[in-house]
Parts: sequence; C-alpha cells; structure tokens
Amino acid sequence: MSALTRSFRYIFVPVMMTFICIAATQLFAYKWQLWLPTINELPYYLYPIVAVLALQFNYARLSFLSVLLLIYYLYEQGLLPELTSIEDLRDHIFLSGTLVIAFFSINKDRAILSTHTIKTFVSIAFCVVLGFAWLFLITQLSAPTTPELPPAFNLLAAIYVPVGVSSIVVCIYATWRKTAIDSMMVVTLFIWLFYYYYPSELPLSILLCMLAVTYLCAILSESYHLAYRDDLTGLSSRRALNTMALSLNSHYSVAMVDIDHFKSFNDTYGHDVGDQVLQLIASKLTKVKGSGKVYRYGGEEFTIVFPNRDVEFVLPYLNELRCIIRDYDIVLRNEHRKTSNKSSRNTQEDNLSTTVNVTISIGVAEHHGQLTFAQTLKLADKALYIAKKNGRNRVFA
Ligand code: GH3
Ligand code: MG
Ligand code: MG
Repeated sequence: MSALTRSFRYIFVPVMMTFICIAATQLFAYKWQLWLPTINELPYYLYPIVAVLALQFNYARLSFLSVLLLIYYLYEQGLLPELTSIEDLRDHIFLSGTLVIAFFSINKDRAILSTHTIKTFVSIAFCVVLGFAWLFLITQLSAPTTPELPPAFNLLAAIYVPVGVSSIVVCIYATWRKTAIDSMMVVTLFIWLFYYYYPSELPLSILLCMLAVTYLCAILSESYHLAYRDDLTGLSSRRALNTMALSLNSHYSVAMVDIDHFKSFNDTYGHDVGDQVLQLIASKLTKVKGSGKVYRYGGEEFTIVFPNRDVEFVLPYLNELRCIIRDYDIVLRNEHRKTSNKSSRNTQEDNLSTTVNVTISIGVAEHHGQLTFAQTLKLADKALYIAKKNGRNRVFA
C-alpha cells in the first residue's frame, strides 16, 4: 500500500466521515434539539464506558483521552472548581489539548499497570505546562515593551505554529502506524479544532457523543482485526476461515497452498528473510483470479476458498499463481551492503545481492455430497501431499 493510499485510508476517510456526520447533525438540528437536555448528560455515561472498554482491550491511549475529554466536559459545564473564567483559559486549554493529542499519537498503547503510566501522567502534565507557558511567553513578547511584533505574528506564533506542527505529527503517525486507533487521534484532533474554531456551530455534548461513538467503533474494528487478521501477512486468519466456512453453500472449491522446502530456506537465509518472503507470497496469492479468497492457515500454509466454483474452473488460476511465484526473482540484499560506503556499493552492486526463487505446491478439492468444510479441506490437504510427493512446484486435484 503506497503512502498516499495509506493516508487516504487512515486520515482522509475518517476525517471526511466525521465531517459528513457533523454536517448531517447540523442539517437535522430540528430532530435533536428537543433531546438536547438528555444529550448533554450522555458524555457523563459514554466516556466512562469507553474508558473501561478501551482498557479492557488494552487501548490505554483511548482510555486516557476519554478521561481527559470527560474532565474537559465537566470543566466546560462548570462542574469543576473554576480558577479563572473559561474564556480566559480557552486558548491555553486548546493549545495544551492539541499537544496532548499529538503526544498520544506518538505514544504507544501500553499496559496500564506499568511504569509507563507514570511517564504518561508526567508527559500529559508537561504538554499542559508547555501549552500554558508558550502562550504566556507570547503574551509577554507582545507586551508594549516589544511593539515591533505585529499582532498577526503573535497569533501565528502562539496558536498556528504549534497546532500546525502537532497536526502534521498526528497525521504522519496515523499514516505510518495504520491502525483504527491511530486514526482516532486524527479524528480527535479534527473535532478539537472544529470546536475551537467554530464553537457555536454544534454543542460540545454532541461533538463529544460523536467522538465517543467513533471510539467505540474503532475499538470494535481494531479488535475484529486482531482476532481475524494475521499479523505478519495481513491476510485473514484461520479463525476468519472457520467463520466464513459457516456461510458457504454446497458449491465451492478449496485449495491448500504450501511453500516448498521452506524450512531449509529459513535455515539458509534466516527467519527474518523467511518472514519477508511469507509476506511477499501472501501478497501474490491475494491476486488470485476466479473470486478466490485467501487465508493464512498457519505457518507457511495458506488456504484459498472459491465459492460457487468447481475444480476445473479454478485449476488454471491456481496454476497461473504457481507460475507467477516460481518466476518471481526475490532479491536478497547482502548485509554488507548496508555498511559499505557509496563508492564501494556501486562497484560491488552485483556481488552484494542474491536472487532466489521459491516455489509452492497446491492441493485442491471440491465440495460434494454431505462433506463438511473440514472434510473438504482434508481432501485438499491430501491432494497437497500428493503434489509434494510428485516432486513439488505443482497443482494436484
Ligand atoms: P515441504 O516442501 O515439504 O513443505 O518442506 P518445508 O520445509 O516447507 O516443510 P515443513 O513443514 O517441514 O517446514 C515448514 C517450515 O516453515 C518450518 C518453519 O521454519 C517455517 N515457518 C513456519 N511458519 C513460519 C513463519 O511464520 N516465519 C518463518 N520465517 N518461517 C516459518
Ligand atoms: Mg507445511
Ligand atoms: Mg512447506
């Protein structure tokens, strides 16, 4: 996935969806206006639920953010002791909050009962102090003693620069980390900015309810991914295969794919290179034609299910897949290359990389009669065994 596609998926889509939700909420204001007193109460209940649920799934950052947003909401509702008027502190809280969101986008989810929690508290306090100190400094600079600084510059330096930098940081990390939880940092920042710049467009309670629901969706979606996606290859996992099998009708074919001599490949080139090759092969397998859906069965074995297809139909596609993988030259970069200087790298380029090829064997079977999915899979496994016995790098039905 290119960086552009990633940023589209993890930044633009969540932001666009939030934007559409905000626009729709404004459009249908007449529907919820009557319920506003009840909606104003909702954040008090939603955020503790989100915080506990996020903790349960080990998403400590969402948990922290939920608590902080709840505190902010309590403060805005006048339920916390006021040191000074909210209006006076509005810019300070906004800037500190932005820095806190940026901090959480960089930070990782760690167990709550660890020393990291203390570090997190210290970092949050640091962000708050930094936000307040920064604005205080700018206010001092723009005092009459330094009239040469025009007000526009002060505003720019005080708010736009740190907020701009924080926004870039949040977006970069969301694109890089590629998880629904990191996308939530972008959505949180978007709603935070929206409320600061357009405070009278929507009540805070509505925005916070929207954000809490988004958090819940992210927790559910990320947990689904953890349960049903294979971490290394990004393919659907065996658990997903078993779940999908329940929805198959009686007409389908299933193929078992196994990499040939992968143990000796690992022994020769190392487990890390083996992992990279597994990822490469997984990405090639996903290109299979004939509506096949690919799963990582376990280790270096994959399963392809072709709903509503018989064996004769899928054989050419599986053979095509086998040939694509067989003919693909995998370039392994020699470790020396990383340490050698530029000139020696150029002269020794050819010597420093090795090209290897791997092959796969495939066994395929079709569902018939009263066979269960597990039994059909077993038939495909038997066919795979014969493909291996016949010399590997072949498809057997
Ligand atoms: P065959 O052609 O008969 O399939 O031989 P093989 O060596 O591929 O088969 P075998 O089942 O004996 O070995 C499978 C190997 O796959 C063992 C293990 O080293 C490797 N393997 C399994 N899972 C992973 C993984 O996640 N990463 C890496 N790098 N290697 C793995
Ligand atoms: Mg195997
Ligand atoms: Mg193998």
